Amino acid sequence: MTDPTFRKLIIAIDGPAGAGKSTIASRLAHKLGYANLESGAMYRALALKAIEWDVAFDDEPALVQLAHDSRIHLEPTIAGNRVLLDRRDVTQRVRESDVTEGASRVSIHPKVREWMVARQQEMGGSGGIVMEGRDIGTVVFPHADVKIFLDADPVVREQRRRQQERASGAAAPVNAAELRERDRRDRTRVASPLQPAADAVLLDSTSLSEDQVLERIEGVVRQRMTQNRT
Ligand code: C5P
Repeated sequence: MTDPTFRKLIIAIDGPAGAGKSTIASRLAHKLGYANLESGAMYRALALKAIEWDVAFDDEPALVQLAHDSRIHLEPTIAGNRVLLDRRDVTQRVRESDVTEGASRVSIHPKVREWMVARQQEMGGSGGIVMEGRDIGTVVFPHADVKIFLDADPVVREQRRRQQERASGAAAPVNAAELRERDRRDRTRVASPLQPAADAVLLDSTSLSEDQVLERIEGVVRQRMTQNRT
C-alpha cells in the first residue's frame, strides 16, 4: 500500500490500554513504510526517570524540569519502539509495573503533557507516521489525515494486556483493578482526557481478529490516499 507519489500521511490511533493499538500501529506502519511511534513510551520513560531521581509523581514543576533535562528517544522497530532514556536502552524496564503506574500518574499534569506534545509534534510533524496514544487525534495532531479510535470490551482488554505482558516476560502480571484505575484516570483527567476526536473513525475490536482490525484501518487509509489524489 506504499504511495510514493503523494504526501506522506499522519495517522493517529488512540484508545485505552489493551485495545490493540501498539500491534496494529506497528503492522500498519510496516505495511506503509512509515514509522510507528508509541507516545505512551515517552510518559513511561519520564516516570522511570522520576523513580530513579526520587521525584514524586505529583510534583509537576519538578517533573517538567526533569523532562527538560532528559533525552527521551523512540526508535521504531517492527517489534515496537526501542526506548532510549539519556542514551540508555530502557525498553524492557519501562514495561514493568512500577513504571506503568508512574506513567499513568505523571501524564495527568498539563505542563508535562505540553512538553510531551511538543516533542511528539517535532517527531511526527513531517508525516509518514503512525502515532498511537490517548490524545494524538485530539491534541497532538488535530489535523491528522486519519484518526482511529480503537476500543474493546474491558474484560477483553484485560485479557490482551495479560497475554502481552506474558509474551514480554513481565515480572508481575497485570492487575485488573489497577488497569481499570489507570483507564479511569486517563478518561477523567482535566488535561486532554482520553476521548475520541469528533472526526475519528470508531472501531470496536472486541470480536475482531488482529487481521480484521488491520484490514478495516487499511480501508480507511486507502480511502484517504484516494481523496489526496483528487
Ligand atoms: O500506551 P501506554 O500504556 O504505554 O501509556 C502509558 C501511560 O501514558 C498511559 O497509562 C496513559 O496514562 C499515558 N499516556 C497519555 N497520553 C498518551 C499516551 C500515553 O496520557 N498520548
